[in-house]
Amino acid sequence: MYPRPFEYRAVTTVDEALRVLHEVEDGKVLAGGQSLLPLMKLRLASPGVLVDISGIPDLSYIRPQGENAVEIGSLTTHDTVAHSALLQERCPILPAAARGIADQQIRNRGTIGGSSCHADPASDLPPTLLALDAEFSIVGPKGSRTVPAKEFFVDLFETQVQRDEILHHIQVPTLGPQWGWSYTKFNRREGDYPIVGVAILVRLDSHGRRLEEVRIGLAAVNPTPCRARAAERFLQGQEISPAILKEAAHRSTEGLHPGSDMHGSSQYRRDMVQVFVRRGLEEAVTRARLAGGNP
Ligand SMILES: Cc1cc2nc3c(=O)[nH]c(=O)nc-3n(C[C@H](O)[C@H](O)[C@H](O)COP(=O)(O)OP(=O)(O)OC[C@H]3O[C@@H](n4cnc5c(N)ncnc54)[C@H](O)[C@@H]3O)c2cc1C
Repeated sequence: MYPRPFEYRAVTTVDEALRVLHEVEDGKVLAGGQSLLPLMKLRLASPGVLVDISGIPDLSYIRPQGENAVEIGSLTTHDTVAHSALLQERCPILPAAARGIADQQIRNRGTIGGSSCHADPASDLPPTLLALDAEFSIVGPKGSRTVPAKEFFVDLFETQVQRDEILHHIQVPTLGPQWGWSYTKFNRREGDYPIVGVAILVRLDSHGRRLEEVRIGLAAVNPTPCRARAAERFLQGQEISPAILKEAAHRSTEGLHPGSDMHGSSQYRRDMVQVFVRRGLEEAVTRARLAGGNP
């Protein structure tokens, strides 16, 4: 199907984009177009004006913010995230999640900002950014503001970014040597959206025996990407053992309401969350022990 007629405005600066969004009533930002254009063709979205920000050079970058963080411009493509040496060194879970998105053509066009603002609960980057406690910097007519990941994703396909605002960049932390990570995407075919996605970060004590901090981000199990808070709370401070990790996997489905579709029933998704949380915790603990010199 063809989209409904729309006006196309290509902008080259953030100020120009904000001006156009402010002037028009039903404008919508276009970044990589990999989610918005299919929606328009299906007529599930019919903006009057497409404000194409893909030509704004200042929004595509990955740079260090001191020693403790990395800043990623919203127009940075999945492919650039997947191959960033800086992210690989400081925050390797993010390139790992980006590498599994769709296919090469989509990774060349799709952006981290677009994926975040689209807020599809079955996407790979949002649960990873949630587990990282990332910070989202939004610019609009009233200036700029920073929103923590736990507040950014509001509802199904809805975020804190308002109609006349733009997501400018995302900040993620540098993971030190006591951190381990794992990103698991369970799907049937390479490049499909996850049936279940599990992003895990663990921080161990200096002996590699105790879990100081655990963060578990989940995709495709609730209307928004979410954290498995009950399992996180249970694991904090625990001595690592197979029984503890199994019990945490069991608790990771508390508060989840996954839908059923052709890829799997609600119960199947809950079962898969438990399987992949347990495996993900084991993998993350192994990585943390190796990184901390406690194999
Ligand atoms: C066949 C196919 C398979 C896919 N498979 C996967 C997958 O396995 N995993 C996965 O995670 N994703 C998948 N995707 C989605 C892909 O990752 C998209 O790139 C991403 O969801 C949207 O990024 P985009 O830059 O293309 O955004 P666009 O499509 O341009 O925009 C998406 C939405 O975000 C808004 N927006 C974009 N950028 C900004 C900004 N800076 N500020 C404010 N609003 C903004 C737009 O207005 C729009 O509402 C797939 C897509 C396709 C077509």
